[in-house]
Amino acid sequence: MIFNRHVFRDTLGETVFVVPERYSNLVPKGVGAQGMVCAAYDTITQQNVAIKKLSRPFQNVTHAKRAYREFKLMKLVNHKNIIGLLNAFTPQRSLEEFQDVYLVMELMDANLCQVIQMDLDHERMSYLLYQMLCGIKHLHSAGIIHRDLKPSNIVVKSDCTLKILDFGLARTAGTTFMMTPYVVTRYYRAPEVILGMGYTENVDIWSVGCIMGEMIRGGVLFPGTDHIDQWNKIIEQLGTPSQQFMSRLQPTVRNYVENRPRYPGYTFERLFPDVLFPSDSSEHNRLKASQARDLLSRMLVIDPERRISVDDALLHPYINVWYDEGEVNAPAAGPYDHSVDEREHTVEQWKELIYQEVMEYESSHGGATAPSPNATNSTEPTNSSGAENNGMR
Ligand code: AMP
Repeated sequence: MIFNRHVFRDTLGETVFVVPERYSNLVPKGVGAQGMVCAAYDTITQQNVAIKKLSRPFQNVTHAKRAYREFKLMKLVNHKNIIGLLNAFTPQRSLEEFQDVYLVMELMDANLCQVIQMDLDHERMSYLLYQMLCGIKHLHSAGIIHRDLKPSNIVVKSDCTLKILDFGLARTAGTTFMMTPYVVTRYYRAPEVILGMGYTENVDIWSVGCIMGEMIRGGVLFPGTDHIDQWNKIIEQLGTPSQQFMSRLQPTVRNYVENRPRYPGYTFERLFPDVLFPSDSSEHNRLKASQARDLLSRMLVIDPERRISVDDALLHPYINVWYDEGEVNAPAAGPYDHSVDEREHTVEQWKELIYQEVMEYESSHGGATAPSPNATNSTEPTNSSGAENNGMR
């Protein structure tokens, strides 16, 4: 099997991609908490793909659990609004040498951070939100509650199709201390996550509300520097929640929350005034703006017991124009084995588990990295000349 080596340089250093020769024209697309993503051309299927490199995913327990969970879930879930796995491989040929995992996915054009900056009309905005809700509903049907949806983990194509890239927080995500220079964005996390309460499916509606509000306002709604600052930003705008909500908090959190200054909050007409909506003054646009504001006011509700559900959001007049039974109620994915989230392993054990998963994938997808007829059986990455020229500057 022949692997080619592609080197990318940027201000943070050098990233090397070692991929089977079937993948050509590698171009960096983005960097996330786990590593770099490149666009590439798959010469076998003749389609453009995205390749994500998980560098030493077992380097610490947090990374390992996340990589293992993501890989398992990508294999399990199958929905047009969730990113699909096309291939997976490692260039290393033994557990001892094992270093990196590469995940090959469908290639999309941009992440939602880039789209939020644009002036979206109601048609595009409602279609994007509809697809997010379909993807979320599908995750929920497999027993996966995301809790960490954010624009950088949602990707879109120029035809306005949308896919969710990741599977959010594991059930036991309490100790996610990570030694990486990558800053974790928490602006989209729901009050029940920030305040460490129990949660149900509509925890993900809060994030959709934050994303929708940002599309309209053109800026992050609750850009807290930490949980405390973020809670302040939420209550300043939406108002101090009811006593009934406070009574459900753990004693220490309740004590803190109850001792904050009380805020009356603003109406949604003040938070999202008419000028922020598409300027065309046609009757259709005015109707759409008021529907959009109504939906926002039902999603951005601090108390989850009063917040709209995913099913009701899909039926809301702003969204239901896109309703398609096959997309909304696509067959549920096989149930996710949550014991994965609870597992505690050493780094060495994680390394072996992840390696086994990759090997199992490679053998069950026989020929996923199939050698070409005249390939040598080399395990050594070969240097593809010219690839170095792909380097990021
Ligand atoms: P991640 O490591 O999954 O958080 O991805 C980091 C960034 O890479 C994203 O914010 C996107 O900009 C980009 N990206 C990831 N996957 C894809 C994909 N399948 N298609 C296009 N861009 C992607």
